[in-house]
Amino acid sequence: MSVGGGAGDGHRPDEVDVLVIGAGQAGLGTAYWLRRCGIERLLVVDAQPVGQSWLDRWDSLRLFTPHRSSALPGLAFPDGPHRAPSRVEMAPYLSAYAAHPGLPVETGVRISRLTGDPEGLMAWTSTGASLRSAR
Ligand SMILES: Cc1cc2nc3c(=O)[nH]c(=O)nc-3n(C[C@H](O)[C@H](O)[C@H](O)COP(=O)(O)OP(=O)(O)OC[C@H]3O[C@@H](n4cnc5c(N)ncnc54)[C@H](O)[C@@H]3O)c2cc1C
Repeated sequence: MSVGGGAGDGHRPDEVDVLVIGAGQAGLGTAYWLRRCGIERLLVVDAQPVGQSWLDRWDSLRLFTPHRSSALPGLAFPDGPHRAPSRVEMAPYLSAYAAHPGLPVETGVRISRLTGDPEGLMAWTSTGASLRSAR
Protein backbone atom coordinates (compact mmCIF):
# COMPACT_ATOMS: atom_id res chain seq x y z
CA MET A 1 0.00 0.00 0.00
CA SER A 2 1.13 3.53 -0.45
CA VAL A 3 0.55 6.96 0.97
CA GLY A 4 0.48 10.40 -0.60
CA GLY A 5 -0.08 11.00 -4.28
CA GLY A 6 2.03 14.02 -5.20
CA ALA A 7 5.71 14.74 -5.27
CA GLY A 8 7.41 16.58 -2.42
CA ASP A 9 10.76 18.08 -3.43
CA GLY A 10 12.27 18.32 0.06
CA HIS A 11 12.46 22.13 -0.21
CA ARG A 12 10.35 24.28 2.07
CA PRO A 13 8.30 26.76 0.05
CA ASP A 14 7.61 30.29 1.26
CA GLU A 15 3.96 29.97 0.41
CA VAL A 16 1.60 26.99 0.54
CA ASP A 17 -2.08 26.34 0.09
CA VAL A 18 -2.38 24.47 3.38
CA LEU A 19 0.02 24.33 6.30
CA VAL A 20 -0.54 21.44 8.70
CA ILE A 21 1.06 22.02 12.10
CA GLY A 22 2.02 18.73 13.75
CA ALA A 23 3.08 15.44 12.16
CA GLY A 24 1.35 13.13 14.60
CA GLN A 25 -1.50 10.86 13.53
CA ALA A 26 -3.88 13.79 13.14
CA GLY A 27 -1.56 15.88 10.98
CA LEU A 28 -0.34 13.01 8.81
CA GLY A 29 -3.84 11.63 8.27
CA THR A 30 -5.14 15.10 7.41
CA ALA A 31 -2.28 15.65 4.97
CA TYR A 32 -3.04 12.33 3.26
CA TRP A 33 -6.64 13.35 2.59
CA LEU A 34 -5.69 16.88 1.54
CA ARG A 35 -3.41 15.34 -1.10
CA ARG A 36 -6.19 13.04 -2.21
CA CYS A 37 -8.45 16.12 -2.52
CA GLY A 38 -5.95 17.68 -4.91
CA ILE A 39 -4.15 20.12 -2.64
CA GLU A 40 -0.72 20.40 -4.28
CA ARG A 41 1.08 23.04 -2.26
CA LEU A 42 0.93 21.35 1.12
CA LEU A 43 3.42 21.33 3.96
CA VAL A 44 3.38 19.50 7.29
CA VAL A 45 5.72 20.87 9.94
CA ASP A 46 6.62 19.48 13.33
CA ALA A 47 8.83 20.78 16.09
CA GLN A 48 10.03 17.26 16.90
CA PRO A 49 11.13 14.19 14.93
CA VAL A 50 8.11 12.23 13.71
CA GLY A 51 6.97 9.74 16.37
CA GLN A 52 8.85 11.44 19.18
CA SER A 53 5.67 12.00 21.22
CA TRP A 54 5.34 8.20 21.48
CA LEU A 55 9.03 7.63 22.23
CA ASP A 56 8.82 10.12 25.09
CA ARG A 57 6.25 7.98 26.94
CA TRP A 58 6.91 5.12 29.34
CA ASP A 59 8.61 1.88 28.23
CA SER A 60 5.73 -0.57 28.63
CA LEU A 61 3.15 1.56 26.81
CA ARG A 62 1.15 -0.35 24.20
CA LEU A 63 -1.77 1.20 22.37
CA PHE A 64 -5.24 -0.07 23.24
CA THR A 65 -6.29 0.11 19.58
CA PRO A 66 -5.17 -2.76 17.31
CA HIS A 67 -3.26 -2.22 14.10
CA ARG A 68 -6.40 -2.01 11.99
CA SER A 69 -7.62 0.94 14.07
CA SER A 70 -4.22 2.54 14.70
CA ALA A 71 -3.13 2.58 11.07
CA LEU A 72 -3.32 5.71 8.98
CA PRO A 73 -4.99 5.75 5.55
CA GLY A 74 -2.99 4.05 2.82
CA LEU A 75 -0.45 2.19 4.95
CA ALA A 76 -1.15 -0.96 6.97
CA PHE A 77 1.08 -2.10 9.80
CA PRO A 78 3.40 -4.85 8.55
CA ASP A 79 2.30 -7.72 10.80
CA GLY A 80 -1.44 -8.04 10.51
CA PRO A 81 -4.49 -6.15 11.75
CA HIS A 82 -5.04 -7.63 15.21
CA ARG A 83 -2.03 -6.84 17.40
CA ALA A 84 -1.89 -3.52 19.20
CA PRO A 85 1.32 -1.60 18.49
CA SER A 86 3.73 -0.68 21.24
CA ARG A 87 4.95 2.90 21.54
CA VAL A 88 8.29 1.89 19.98
CA GLU A 89 6.47 0.41 16.98
CA MET A 90 4.46 3.59 16.48
CA ALA A 91 7.52 5.78 15.93
CA PRO A 92 8.96 3.89 12.91
CA TYR A 93 5.48 3.38 11.49
CA LEU A 94 4.80 7.13 11.58
CA SER A 95 8.30 7.90 10.27
CA ALA A 96 7.76 5.55 7.33
CA TYR A 97 4.42 7.21 6.65
CA ALA A 98 5.93 10.69 6.80
CA ALA A 99 8.85 9.67 4.56
CA HIS A 100 6.62 9.12 1.57
CA PRO A 101 7.53 11.74 -1.06
CA GLY A 102 3.87 12.62 -1.54
CA LEU A 103 3.70 13.97 2.00
CA PRO A 104 6.09 16.88 2.41
CA VAL A 105 7.01 16.85 6.10
CA GLU A 106 9.61 19.09 7.66
CA THR A 107 10.70 18.49 11.24
CA GLY A 108 12.53 20.81 13.60
CA VAL A 109 10.09 23.62 12.80
CA ARG A 110 8.10 24.95 15.75
CA ILE A 111 5.30 27.35 14.86
CA SER A 112 5.20 29.98 17.55
CA ARG A 113 2.70 32.47 16.13
CA LEU A 114 -0.07 32.68 13.56
CA THR A 115 -1.37 35.93 12.16
CA GLY A 116 -4.18 36.43 9.68
CA ASP A 117 -4.91 38.82 6.84
CA PRO A 118 -7.35 38.77 3.89
CA GLU A 119 -4.95 36.59 1.85
CA GLY A 120 -4.69 33.88 4.47
CA LEU A 121 -2.42 33.08 7.37
CA MET A 122 1.15 33.87 8.19
CA ALA A 123 2.89 31.26 10.33
CA TRP A 124 5.95 32.32 12.25
CA THR A 125 8.54 29.83 13.37
CA SER A 126 10.46 30.01 16.61
CA THR A 127 13.54 31.07 14.61
CA GLY A 128 11.69 34.05 13.14
CA ALA A 129 11.12 32.61 9.65
CA SER A 130 7.69 33.03 8.14
CA LEU A 131 5.52 30.96 5.85
CA ARG A 132 2.35 32.13 4.13
CA SER A 133 -0.57 29.75 3.91
CA ALA A 134 -3.76 30.39 1.99
CA ARG A 135 -5.60 28.15 4.50
C1 LIG B 1 -0.71 7.39 26.99
C2 LIG B 1 -1.54 7.52 25.77
C3 LIG B 1 -2.03 6.38 25.13
C4 LIG B 1 -2.83 6.50 23.99
N1 LIG B 1 -3.29 5.36 23.39
C5 LIG B 1 -4.05 5.47 22.27
C6 LIG B 1 -4.53 4.31 21.58
O1 LIG B 1 -4.28 3.18 21.98
N2 LIG B 1 -5.27 4.50 20.47
C7 LIG B 1 -5.58 5.76 19.99
O2 LIG B 1 -6.27 5.84 18.97
N3 LIG B 1 -5.15 6.85 20.64
C8 LIG B 1 -4.40 6.76 21.75
N4 LIG B 1 -3.98 7.87 22.39
C9 LIG B 1 -4.35 9.14 21.89
C10 LIG B 1 -3.28 9.54 20.94
O3 LIG B 1 -2.43 10.50 21.53
C11 LIG B 1 -3.88 10.04 19.70
O4 LIG B 1 -4.66 9.05 19.08
C12 LIG B 1 -2.87 10.52 18.71
O5 LIG B 1 -1.52 10.29 19.02
C13 LIG B 1 -3.05 11.97 18.66
O6 LIG B 1 -2.40 12.37 17.52
P1 LIG B 1 -2.17 13.88 17.29
O7 LIG B 1 -1.54 14.00 15.95
O8 LIG B 1 -3.43 14.64 17.57
O9 LIG B 1 -1.17 14.32 18.47
P2 LIG B 1 0.38 13.99 18.69
O10 LIG B 1 0.71 12.60 18.36
O11 LIG B 1 0.68 14.49 20.07
O12 LIG B 1 1.10 14.93 17.63
C14 LIG B 1 1.10 16.33 17.72
C15 LIG B 1 2.37 16.80 17.05
O13 LIG B 1 2.31 18.21 16.91
C16 LIG B 1 3.58 18.75 17.16
N5 LIG B 1 3.39 20.15 17.55
C17 LIG B 1 2.62 20.61 18.56
N6 LIG B 1 2.68 21.95 18.60
C18 LIG B 1 3.50 22.34 17.58
C19 LIG B 1 3.94 23.62 17.10
N7 LIG B 1 3.55 24.76 17.69
N8 LIG B 1 4.77 23.67 16.04
C20 LIG B 1 5.19 22.52 15.44
N9 LIG B 1 4.80 21.28 15.86
C21 LIG B 1 3.96 21.20 16.91
C22 LIG B 1 4.16 17.87 18.25
O14 LIG B 1 5.57 17.90 18.24
C23 LIG B 1 3.60 16.49 17.88
O15 LIG B 1 4.50 15.73 17.09
C24 LIG B 1 -3.17 7.78 23.50
C25 LIG B 1 -2.66 8.93 24.14
C26 LIG B 1 -1.85 8.79 25.25
C27 LIG B 1 -1.34 10.04 25.90
